[in-house]
Amino acid sequence: MLKIDNLHAEIDGKKILDGLTLEVNAGEVHAIMGPNGAGKSTLAYVLGGRPGYEVTAGSVEFIGPKGQKLNLLSLEPHERAAAGLFLGFQYPVEIPGVSNVQFLREALNAQRKARGEEPLSGGEFLKLAKDKAGLLKLDMDMLKRNVNVGFSGGEKKRAEMVQMGILDPAFAVLDETDSGLDIDALRVVGEGIEAIMRAPGKGVLLITHYQRLLDYVKPDKVHILARGRIVTTGGPELAQRLEAEGYEEVAA
Ligand code: ADP
Ligand code: MG
Repeated sequence: MLKIDNLHAEIDGKKILDGLTLEVNAGEVHAIMGPNGAGKSTLAYVLGGRPGYEVTAGSVEFIGPKGQKLNLLSLEPHERAAAGLFLGFQYPVEIPGVSNVQFLREALNAQRKARGEEPLSGGEFLKLAKDKAGLLKLDMDMLKRNVNVGFSGGEKKRAEMVQMGILDPAFAVLDETDSGLDIDALRVVGEGIEAIMRAPGKGVLLITHYQRLLDYVKPDKVHILARGRIVTTGGPELAQRLEAEGYEEVAA
């Protein structure tokens, strides 16, 4: 459902992605691993449509939840979100003055509107939010606080997964969702990703540094990104090998 073909991208004239090709079918979870500076976050930003990232060649085709074939790179970021794409960030932003509940309800209803659906009422929304917060073991009080302000690293990641649960995207690109998580939070977040995103019509691109998240989110394929492109693809055993041997051996 996501088909990236020969993608080249630059930041400030500096080439970062250099012919990246990758396809994720509906129902699959793919992991991307790779050394620091390889271009993993750049890939996530390019897919999300962040300004400043210039695509100089290649294409990204996205099959939306209703089977519509979309040229992802031609869409505005909010159109990508409305089409069912969710981006989880390595560094979640803080939004002082806006509560999680306000933010999430606005975000959900904006997407529903773009899809021609009725907005959820306050009561309906709170029920949904409680349900998803429970799944991620995040106290509802946290959702009443301002977005990410004063949250620990683990709380930010769990709040982000609650956001994903509420928006219920067709496809999620998750950039280092495991960073800053202790062992218990890792399990909760990993199981949350499985619960929310493991479904026949959905797909996940999971960018991760460590094999340990893959104990909870079982990838169908593991790719190694180095020097701006996918250099190796394998099954879950590739992540184990990487952990044991390091990138220099496996991605040379
Ligand atoms: P990864 O997530 O794999 O660690 P990134 O995609 O963050 O890698 O970065 C890839 C390369 O792009 C790095 O060399 C980084 O220094 C460079 N880079 C990232 N963002 C910028 C930027 N805003 N301006 C210039 N170079 C950048
Ligand atoms: Mg990164």
